[in-house]
Formats: sequence, C-alpha cells, structure tokens
Amino acid sequence: MKILVTGGAGFIGSAVVRLAIARGHSVVNLDALTYAACLDNLASVAQSPRYAFEHADIRDPAALEAIFRRHTPDAVLHLAAESHVDRSIDEPGVFIDTNVTGTMILLQAARSYWERSGRPAHFRFHHVSTDEVFGSLPPDPAVKFTEDRPYDPRSPYAASKAASDHLVHAWHETYGLPVLLTNCSNNYGPFHFPEKLIPVVILNALAGKPLPIYGTGAQIRDWLYVEDHAEALLLVLEQGRPGRSYNIGGENERTNLDLVQTLCKILDDRRPRATPYAEQITFVADRPGHDARYAIDPTRIRTELGWRPSVSVEEGLARTVDWYLTHEAWWRALQTRRGVGQRLGVVA
Ligand code: NAD
Repeated sequence: MKILVTGGAGFIGSAVVRLAIARGHSVVNLDALTYAACLDNLASVAQSPRYAFEHADIRDPAALEAIFRRHTPDAVLHLAAESHVDRSIDEPGVFIDTNVTGTMILLQAARSYWERSGRPAHFRFHHVSTDEVFGSLPPDPAVKFTEDRPYDPRSPYAASKAASDHLVHAWHETYGLPVLLTNCSNNYGPFHFPEKLIPVVILNALAGKPLPIYGTGAQIRDWLYVEDHAEALLLVLEQGRPGRSYNIGGENERTNLDLVQTLCKILDDRRPRATPYAEQITFVADRPGHDARYAIDPTRIRTELGWRPSVSVEEGLARTVDWYLTHEAWWRALQTRRGVGQRLGVVA
C-alpha cells in the first residue's frame, strides 16, 4: 500500500512511518516541520526507496493537490496536528487553524483526488484522534470510554480534535469518503518530544531539577506504548470498516503521581544517586479545566480486529528511560528550540 502520512515527523507519526516501511508499505511523509517535528526520528528509513518526504502544510490546498497528483496514494493516515494541551490554553488559534481548518482542507483534497480517480473502493482516509474528545471520567473503574460515548471536550486542544472528528464523519456521510477514525489514550515511548510529561520527568530528574506535578497528581491517564499504537493504526487502516471509529488504549490506568514515582524508581536503579529521584517531586498549581480521568474500553478493536498491546507499562517505561539515557544528543538538540523547556507544568 502507498500511504500518505501527515505529521510523519512527529512523535507518533514517525513511529507509524518506521513500522509501515518495515512492513513493506510505501510512505509519503507530508509534514510542515513545526517546532514539534524532528526528521532525525526517521533516520532509519530516510534512505529507503519506499520513503518520500514532502515539506508541506495541510492548510495549503494547492500543495496538497500537487502531492496527491504526484504520489497517487492508496490511503491517507492523518496525524498532523498541534498536540500540546498547555500550548492550546495559551494560544488556541493555531489549534483551530491546523486541527480544524487544516483537517477540512485535507479532507477536501483527499475527496477531490478520490473522486477524480473514480472512487476506488480500496481508498481510505484514516483520521488519528484522541480520547480527550470524550471529556473527563469519574473514578469508577467500571466506567470507560466506548466509541458511542457522547463527545464532551474540555480543553481547546480536545475541542479542536473533536471538531475535526465531526468533520471526518461528515465527509463520510455527505460525500461517501471511505473514512476510518481512531481515538487513542496517552502515548509514551522513544522520540517523545521533551516538553511532554514522561520526557520532562526523566530529563529534569537527571538534571537535578524539580519534577513538577499538577495539583495533587491524582489525575488518571491510560498509557499506551507508542509502537503498540502504530501497530493498531496500521491494523485499522488495513482491516477497519469504513465509517467506523475504534478506541485504542492499553488498559494501563495510572495516576500522574504513581507514574512519576515509577519513573523515579527506574532511574534509581539505572543511575543510582545518594538521594532518591522522587525527592525532586514538586507539586504546582493545577492546569485550568484539568480532566480527572481518561480510560479507554478497547473491546471493539480487540474483538473485531484482534488487536492487543504487546508491551506492558512496566516494560514500556523501562525501555523509555533506557532510550533517553542512550539518546542524549537527540533530546539536547530539541531542548534548545524556542519555547521548549520554559514550562514548569507537567502535561498528560
Ligand atoms: P506531535 O506534536 O509530536 O507531531 C505533530 C506533527 O504534525 C509534527 O511533525 C508537526 O510538524 C506536524 N504538523 C503540525 N501542524 C502541521 C500542519 N499544519 N501541516 C502539516 N504538518 C503539521 O504529535 P503526536 O503526539 O505525534 O500526535 C500525532 C497525532 O496523534 C495528533 O493528531 C494527536 O492529536 C494524536 N494523538 C496523540 C496522542 C499522544 O498521546 N501524543 C494520543 C492520541 C492521539
């Protein structure tokens, strides 16, 4: 399959590109290279004859039309987005521009290409979204996000992703575009940008800096190793039913405090010091509108498509710490980018 991946230079997009190339697919990576992008994430596949890069913005209709004509993809896997919740609170405008307007422009370009090509039955437009569109859950472990849960986004980021999800469904209902939609829980793993929770904790711990935790750290998130997400995305792309949504999650609920303490224990083991790393934990003012709990019910993707995560959260966190310990040049280069590392808040 020839897949047009948008946002392939980002954290999850680069994991998908690496996996797709390893599986024998051809990939065209379309990315605007914002502050969050890193083409080094793709060093292992950049020389492949099945990999191509297009430096373009999903808000540019002329560029999109030319890319569709030049590459004639069988599918679009749409990950390009502004993805950082705290930034969406400070600067919501760019989230609406990219996540909402950009998705609409991409849908129009994909639709026009699909119609010109005679509406091929195999074509897919797969939109990658988040569980944050469903809002916040009560602590009751029996209650989880299923695909039919009403949308209730609470941050500008979540609202922009919810709007884009609705657009994708509308393009299916109105124009018949064969779409797929996935809503995934929090990802973590190698190549995670150094302003997100897990890298911030690892890197601040190593630097002897405070490990900031919002509020009391009681918020619960459902963590998934990024390579398991990439597997799920390719599976849905290949076997998902058009028009359908699939929730993806690792059933690994952790409070933020528990997660940070676990990372500290792994670091105590890997880089022992006289003072345990957990002593650097510092509680800071909570994020406005901070959702209490996210938890995914992955029954549909498990029963319909047979997907299961392969990496336990203990194993995944240990692998992630080891990756940051051995990839210092990668994260040091990104830490010097404008605006990165200025925030004290922990993001999850
Ligand atoms: P990221 O911020 O690491 O990467 C986003 C990529 O999109 C970057 O390479 C950036 O350059 C590119 N991009 C941004 N605006 C663009 C534009 N206008 N045109 C073209 N490219 C543009 O994000 P991520 O964490 O890899 O997330 C990827 C997708 O997955 C997003 O849609 C996000 O909403 C979704 N998602 C993320 C998580 C998570 O935990 N990170 C969980 C569920 C869903």
